[in-house]
Amino acid sequence: MIPAGFWWGAAALSALGVSARWNWWRPAAEGLPVLMYHKVGDPPPGSRLKKLWVSVAKFRRQMEYLKTHGYQPATFAELAEDPARFSRPVVLSFDDGYLNNYQNAFPLLREFGFRAVVFLVVDAIGKDNFWHDPRNEVRIPMLSREQILEMQAAGVEFGSHTFSHPRLSRLDDAAARREIIESRRALEVLLGRAPVPFAYPYGDGQDEPRLWKIVEEAGYRWACAIHQGKARPEKNPYSLRRIFVRGDDGLWDFHLNLTRGRARF
Ligand SMILES: [Zn+2]
Repeated sequence: MIPAGFWWGAAALSALGVSARWNWWRPAAEGLPVLMYHKVGDPPPGSRLKKLWVSVAKFRRQMEYLKTHGYQPATFAELAEDPARFSRPVVLSFDDGYLNNYQNAFPLLREFGFRAVVFLVVDAIGKDNFWHDPRNEVRIPMLSREQILEMQAAGVEFGSHTFSHPRLSRLDDAAARREIIESRRALEVLLGRAPVPFAYPYGDGQDEPRLWKIVEEAGYRWACAIHQGKARPEKNPYSLRRIFVRGDDGLWDFHLNLTRGRARF
């Protein structure tokens, strides 16, 4: 016979497992939810970064959730101009600027009438994801200049994600300044307006006051980190937390992440 204590122990352990995965016990967190996406679609054969791919069907369900719950997807420029205009703002951010954002996310954003923000790797525009180790992620195409301008005309905001997707903390000041300041100037030429937000590649350097200063000097209003949680721009506009939307998240994870401000990682 199995002792009763075993079953209690097993029940307690599985409850612990559930609460570690689903943060239903956390109180609703204050702040601005900034969702972090990368690629929308199905991972190609050979991709080892599958959690960075959100399927079109899941992305649609997430957009439906936002609409049903009264969220108002906003751009950073709109929030900088008049934050009071939004009662329930959310920012949909996409890192790197993949072609699949145009092919798979943009049609749905248009259908729902939602704003979004794409962080561009400037040297990769019209090319491919050259900074990835091909053993982890296959080469896939990035947005072209024409697609970027078409998306901008339809309300998508663009921010800088540097020229070459480096680990900024490893760069000296001169090289970091080029990546942060000059990439903003290059995008201003392409877009006809200077980008409002910046995002640290890999989140690297997100905790360094040296880099916050360069970001501020460049003229960005905000910079996105990859620390998990809701953004509190009033605390530090140059290291905003975000909510990582994983490819294997269900709608329940999505709900908890939006309300609790916390994702599994
Ligand atoms: Zn990136």
